[in-house]
Amino acid sequence: MSYPRQFKVEPGTQVKLAELDPAFKGHHEAHAAAAAEIEHYSERLRVLQELLYAEGRRSLLICLQAMDTGGKDGIINHVLAAMNPQGCRVAHFRRPSPEEAAHDFLWRAHRVAPARGEVVIFNRSHYEDVLVVRVHQLLAKSVWSARYERINEFERALTEDGTVILKFYLHISSEEQLARFKERLDDPTKHWKISEADYLERRFWPQYLRAYEEALFRCSTERAPWYVIPANHKWFRNLAVARIVVERLEAMGLKYPEPTVDLTRIRREYHAAAAQ
Ligand code: AMP
Ligand code: MG
Repeated sequence: MSYPRQFKVEPGTQVKLAELDPAFKGHHEAHAAAAAEIEHYSERLRVLQELLYAEGRRSLLICLQAMDTGGKDGIINHVLAAMNPQGCRVAHFRRPSPEEAAHDFLWRAHRVAPARGEVVIFNRSHYEDVLVVRVHQLLAKSVWSARYERINEFERALTEDGTVILKFYLHISSEEQLARFKERLDDPTKHWKISEADYLERRFWPQYLRAYEEALFRCSTERAPWYVIPANHKWFRNLAVARIVVERLEAMGLKYPEPTVDLTRIRREYHAAAAQ
């Protein structure tokens, strides 16, 4: 089965995250066996992003959500490394600034959504407003529960205007997270990333899973599907995301625009003499 089909949350189905194996790695035994495939998809990403940029009519929005250490930064590095920085952007969604908090919750997402020709990756996204907000009861249930529909309307508006939307939940196990925290402790170059709040947040793991499950259920749509990516193995996570992005871009039928000048005349007037 293709990765887009295998990992997609079919609209209207309820996913049980506890039943999906975060350590899944397809038919590959280990990273080395997948290296050639990863390289292939990176090269396709490079070509397709240039086409999207050259065409300048449509755009791509990738939303990344995960628990801490789930690999959002890793995906950003991997996917963007394959692309021309001219035409790509990352938007990081932190705790809302006073200005952001003074607007409706989608305001900040809309402001940084991709322009025509652009690829934008949301590092966290407007989904935080039904995830962290729900888990920590930052707002009344009546407020956040109305947001799933608002999100669907927002994403519908973007897709109707030519934005392709792909949403990835990077699925790691709680044990894998603890192991990654431990790696940070053992690596002086990672000490700056350690925060006790991240450890304390682990207590809310089951609540986060429930909040994710509802977001996946309510907001995976044909136009803006959610994918649950097994992410305990970093190389598999990178491969799966790259493959899904490539296959979606390929389905767009991107084409270089027609030249805006008469090539025959340009050749004759500017190159014929030089050839003599
Ligand atoms: P990080 O992405 O690890 O740098 O952390 C950003 C933090 O901002 C996370 O703890 C998010 O849960 C938090 N955050 C993002 N969006 C919101 C929001 N709408 N309301 C409250 N906290 C948020
Ligand atoms: Mg963090």
